[in-house]
Amino acid sequence: MLDVREDLTPMMAQYTDLCEAHDDALVLFQVGDFYEAFCAAAETVARVCEVTLTKREDSTGRYPMAGVPIDNAASYVERLLDAGYRVALADQVQPAEEASGLVDRAVTQLVTPGTLVDDAYLEGSTANYLAALVREAAGTEATYGLALVDVSTGECLVTSGSRETVSEELERRSPAELLTGPELDDVGADLVPEAMHTSYDPSVFEHDTARAHLRRYARPDVVLANDAEVRATGAVLAYAEYTQGGDHLDYVSRVTRFDARESMRLDATALASLELFESRSRSGHTLMGTLDETACALGRRRLEAWLRRPTVDRHEAEARLDAVEALSREGVVRETLHDRLREVYDLERLVGRVSRGRANARDLRSLATTLAVVPDLREALAALDHDSARLADLTDRLDDCGDVRSLVEEAIVPDPPQEVTDGGVVREGFDAELDDIRATEREGRAWVSQLEATERERTGIDSLEVGYTQVHGYYIEVTNPNLERVPEDYTRRQTLKNSERFYTPELKRREDEILSASERADALEYEVFCEVRASVADEGERLQALADVLAELDVLVAFATIAVDRDYVRPTFGAEAIEIEAGRHPVVERTTEFVPNGIDFSQGDVALITGPNMSGKSTYMRQVALTCVMAQAGSFVPASRASLRVVDRVFTRVGASDDIAGGQSTFMREMAELTDILHAATDRSLVLLDEVGRGTATTDGLAIARATTEFIHDEVGASTLFATHYHELTGLEAEYDGVFTLHFTADRDADGVTFLHRVAEGPSSSSYGVEVARLAGVPDRVVERARALVEAADRHEAAERDPDTADPSRHAATNGEHVRTSTDADSAEKAFSKPRQTSGGRAKSAPLPDPSRDSHGDPNHVVGGVLADIERLDVARTTPMDALSLLHELQRRLDDADQET
Ligand code: ADP
Repeated sequence: MLDVREDLTPMMAQYTDLCEAHDDALVLFQVGDFYEAFCAAAETVARVCEVTLTKREDSTGRYPMAGVPIDNAASYVERLLDAGYRVALADQVQPAEEASGLVDRAVTQLVTPGTLVDDAYLEGSTANYLAALVREAAGTEATYGLALVDVSTGECLVTSGSRETVSEELERRSPAELLTGPELDDVGADLVPEAMHTSYDPSVFEHDTARAHLRRYARPDVVLANDAEVRATGAVLAYAEYTQGGDHLDYVSRVTRFDARESMRLDATALASLELFESRSRSGHTLMGTLDETACALGRRRLEAWLRRPTVDRHEAEARLDAVEALSREGVVRETLHDRLREVYDLERLVGRVSRGRANARDLRSLATTLAVVPDLREALAALDHDSARLADLTDRLDDCGDVRSLVEEAIVPDPPQEVTDGGVVREGFDAELDDIRATEREGRAWVSQLEATERERTGIDSLEVGYTQVHGYYIEVTNPNLERVPEDYTRRQTLKNSERFYTPELKRREDEILSASERADALEYEVFCEVRASVADEGERLQALADVLAELDVLVAFATIAVDRDYVRPTFGAEAIEIEAGRHPVVERTTEFVPNGIDFSQGDVALITGPNMSGKSTYMRQVALTCVMAQAGSFVPASRASLRVVDRVFTRVGASDDIAGGQSTFMREMAELTDILHAATDRSLVLLDEVGRGTATTDGLAIARATTEFIHDEVGASTLFATHYHELTGLEAEYDGVFTLHFTADRDADGVTFLHRVAEGPSSSSYGVEVARLAGVPDRVVERARALVEAADRHEAAERDPDTADPSRHAATNGEHVRTSTDADSAEKAFSKPRQTSGGRAKSAPLPDPSRDSHGDPNHVVGGVLADIERLDVARTTPMDALSLLHELQRRLDDADQET
């Protein structure tokens, strides 16, 4: 900053003061049509915004200066935010004409990632949260309070709980900015690494200050649970106010307390691996994207909220499903509702802008358009024959706010300009005084437009013209040859090359009258507009309540539309175990000819799933989880029947093989995630495990996988899908009642590998490594020999464990045909896959060796050596490239042996 205060010009002193008052932000200082920054800040602005760094020169010296045009400020502010800055907009708050010397300036808005309000900054319709987190230490257990506010819509949510609970909620909401109480300042930056971490005036976190603050917002019926919640909420509101220029935020009228445990818990890992909102592949497909048939931004935000927090209240889910079912029966009503909802603007944000005094006339018209939809919605719903209590309730709560709509429609012209200060906004007939002034202006203009004709007649100059310029105002123009005919009362105004311009006293009088009328009218219009806007703001709470109803209705209509279009079925709750018949993956089935697969947890809690890579294991596991998520969000599900029970939490430990970081660190992470699952899962949870134990040596890995399965079976009782390459693990089925096995198969023909993507009961016929060898085209004799060796080893092991269960038929297989154990056979048809024609995916890996290259008459010792090498191979730790080159090498050895004979 500038060093010597006394030397500064008044403007620079003003700038320096504002910078000091907002030392956590980059101050953009309005100078006319530009926002400027000076000195060090100028260098930042120039670098980040890629604008020219210039110099400002005044009586006291030269400073670096950089500026961005105010008209286009949003795009530059966004860059500064992205670069991690908060931006303080210091506007001229006094018209330049009125200032005697220096114009007054004040910071009207502090733009931070968590407190964005302008559509220019907000991405789509997703909620943008500012979060505040505090910790209250009481005894050994600390309680964390979390408050979230979306400053653009006024939504304010509060909860509290253990560190784990609030961390999970933070992951779920992914706030753009996190404010922490002084006790958490040290760790704040690590809690939500993507968010901007803000430390603010510690006093707002003090209990009494916070409570006083909160009282100005919360309705008396909002009961917060504890001090932690009060402190977090008071602080978040104080900071939100501070960023919006310090005024009370009227539209934050709904402080809502929720219990983080009232919803299905989905942590960041689960959200990511189920691809609820973000895709892990280049396709970009997500559950949200697939289900988003909402018609308006309100609905889109609500859908996202419901998917982020599926309910665990069975009655709530059923209430939504009743409504969806009713809507799904009546196509015409549903389409009418959907069509009308498309005309609904983002009411929550509109009301936010109205209350902040930032809405323009177009916003008010958008609001009126939205309200105009409401009577049609009521009518459509009235035509629906239903017994859904939820729909009835929503219909009752559809308040069309007719008074607000009439006010706007009567006051504001239908297609108003962007600017509200230049007139053309208020409708004729709304304000008598305004109409009078406009009439005066119109009469004046009419008189002027007659003037040319009257003056031509009076002077006899046919070429005489009347015109207007910004600088000189109205004039009468006479060409040089006609100058001698100019009457006495003409006064010269301007001389041009071929003509002269004049005015008359009457013309001057009229001109003044027109101009002053126009100016007064513009000013009065602005005043009237502000009054109308304030009256609308007074109805903010009603409007927000309406927005709430519209949001929910939109999602229910969208769910019903999807249910019909995609052949979803209504799930039922209350079953002892999850049973899904012919289930599909809602996202994958959109782009693939999908093979439906069922699951039946009434057979046991833990399903062990085997099958080669790409055969469909992880798609299958995810589709079960997505079905539960969708059902508890209130949607129908992709299946022919789904009998569910409420799931309290979905855990996923998926994708070790996709992890970029390899080796020990991956394994550590895998184990850390496993630890969380084993500690926190309940018998109401759904657990997906993919390849647990792969990150370490085979014996260790198998041991961990086995112990995990046993623990889940004995201690946890969670419904678990466990995909594994450890063929040996499937032996547990015989030992434990609650463990059952499923497998996916793949076939090889002349064209390569074909995946059926169909799940079947029982374990795979052979171990993963042997199966891969077969698919890769290793000669049949080698494969069969390998298979026999594995089976012998399995039998041996089983016999050691328990002589009675060593059933050789269990793993017997002939030439790729899989034999089911007899107990499985009956139920298999019932519980599984409605058979469907399969196209099957093709492996897209490197070309496989030609299967016709079978080796003939190879000496036994070469085959023995090849087998030994295959056995030694740690498949879990072999990359596809290594596997291919090894195969190549093995084939070469077999070929060589051929040649020798
Ligand atoms: P795995 O987990 O066994 O390696 P994936 O679940 O990743 O296999 O599936 C591999 C490929 O097969 C994916 O591209 C997926 O789209 C496709 N796929 C999986 N299941 C099915 C199915 N039931 N019907 C059709 N295609 C499927």
